[in-house]
Amino acid sequence: MQLLWFRNDLRIHDNPALKHFLTHYKAGDRAVYILTPLQWQQHHWARIKIDLIKRHVHLLQTQLKALGVQLEIHQVDDFREQVEFLKGEISRQDSVNIIANEELEINERNRDKALADSGLSLTLFEADVIVSKGKVLNKAGDMFKVFTPFKRAWLSHVKTYGFEYLGKPSAQTLSVDMTDKSGYAADNDLLNSDNTSLHWPLVDDVEANIIPDFFANKHDQYHQFRDIPSIKGTSGLSPYLAIGALSPRYLLQLILNKHPDLLTAHDSSAFSWLNELIWRDFYRHLLHHFPKLCRHQMFNDKYANITWPYDKAKFNAWCLGQTGYPIVDAAMRQLNQTGWMHNRLRMVVASFLTKHLLIDWRLGEQYFMSTLIDGDLAANNGGWQWAASTGCDAQPYFRIFNPIRQGERFDPKGEFVRKYLPELDKVPDKHVHFPHGYMKSHRDIAYWPAIVDHKAAREQALAFYR
Ligand SMILES: Cc1cc2nc3c(=O)[nH]c(=O)nc-3n(C[C@H](O)[C@H](O)[C@H](O)COP(=O)(O)OP(=O)(O)OC[C@H]3O[C@@H](n4cnc5c(N)ncnc54)[C@H](O)[C@@H]3O)c2cc1C
Repeated sequence: MQLLWFRNDLRIHDNPALKHFLTHYKAGDRAVYILTPLQWQQHHWARIKIDLIKRHVHLLQTQLKALGVQLEIHQVDDFREQVEFLKGEISRQDSVNIIANEELEINERNRDKALADSGLSLTLFEADVIVSKGKVLNKAGDMFKVFTPFKRAWLSHVKTYGFEYLGKPSAQTLSVDMTDKSGYAADNDLLNSDNTSLHWPLVDDVEANIIPDFFANKHDQYHQFRDIPSIKGTSGLSPYLAIGALSPRYLLQLILNKHPDLLTAHDSSAFSWLNELIWRDFYRHLLHHFPKLCRHQMFNDKYANITWPYDKAKFNAWCLGQTGYPIVDAAMRQLNQTGWMHNRLRMVVASFLTKHLLIDWRLGEQYFMSTLIDGDLAANNGGWQWAASTGCDAQPYFRIFNPIRQGERFDPKGEFVRKYLPELDKVPDKHVHFPHGYMKSHRDIAYWPAIVDHKAAREQALAFYR
């Protein structure tokens, strides 16, 4: 008997585990999803992300039904109980093979190892990257520690070997027992949405409308608009990639349908978006090769013994968007209000926390994880360690973003900051990214005082890192 176990691969398209299951299907085979709320809490997953997952489990159940597969939905506390649950389910059956797509993170890998160690048969596929982890290596056979040569080798790999996009399975005529074994119908709580992610459509809508619109109207200008937070110039697909509702190989297929020569035309502006998908693969490959990244350790051992000062009031001001630096505060309010933040702003606020406030990047990483709809350990850890200069191919420590200059450069008319800081509505453009001087003669404007002086903070950070 086969038991298909959905985890971070909540989709029917380009899903190798599902494809294997359907190819070898026999009556009596089962498909399950097992929620683990306590584990998610321990991993600091945001409620909005959990809500998006639950909505997609529900969608998956409907999509699988059309394929003749009944998805059972169960709930236990954590990974340890997941193992016990599966052992309990399977001990009653003869010779069961669990089919799943592998997960990258260390607790997930240890859980799978515990299952295999207990004697259960587990067949794993890979569905989370474009190029398989372990296939992009330098001449010495090691993982690259710099992005650009990784990218070159990645492109060369795809050009030489191609990539396997599995498409969508067609409707099957399976003889399936459609009685719901999960008791889900009786326990509506399992999928009760708290509505927090409802402004994000489900992935079938994304595939039908948002992705075609992105390729028709935004993809070719991505390079030009990707850094402007007041414009929706990026795809907004990260939440779906993070929970496996979208396949990165599907996206590569779409890019190549539009620009068949893109793998060789690296300098074209249409390449910029693919470049980001390669960054995504890069961070996932890194996590695979360096499991210490899952254990909150610095990538660069040189910084392993740093003792970061901690100032609770400053950390809280950063979290709440009350630092007195408009671009930082507007960005944090975008995060707190919507569960998502523009990439340029993620870099700015992460730099501000680690360099201006000298607060441990791991606190920022955790805060992001607990608020982001697209929270993803590999990309989040990579982004934070990049900003803190402790990471792989990171920003050098002496490059410290000036938050005023970043605002002036990427939000010159203050459109983005005013959207989230209506208190700055009446401040003229030229003062909007540091209104404190202007406010001295305009006392009706109320805004937070700057919690640090930029120049002094910069000098302090340089000395600290040195
Ligand atoms: C401090 C910090 C923390 C971050 N945390 C996360 C996170 O938890 N989850 C997450 O998905 N991304 C994270 N990123 C990367 C990036 O900010 C988001 O992927 C991007 O903003 C998502 O918006 P989009 O889907 O419109 O991206 P687009 O610009 O349309 O890019 C397409 C896709 O490429 C991938 N991508 C884009 N930029 C990056 C990048 N720098 N690193 C890795 N993958 C990338 C994403 O999957 C994204 O959906 C972080 C970046 C920083 C600097």
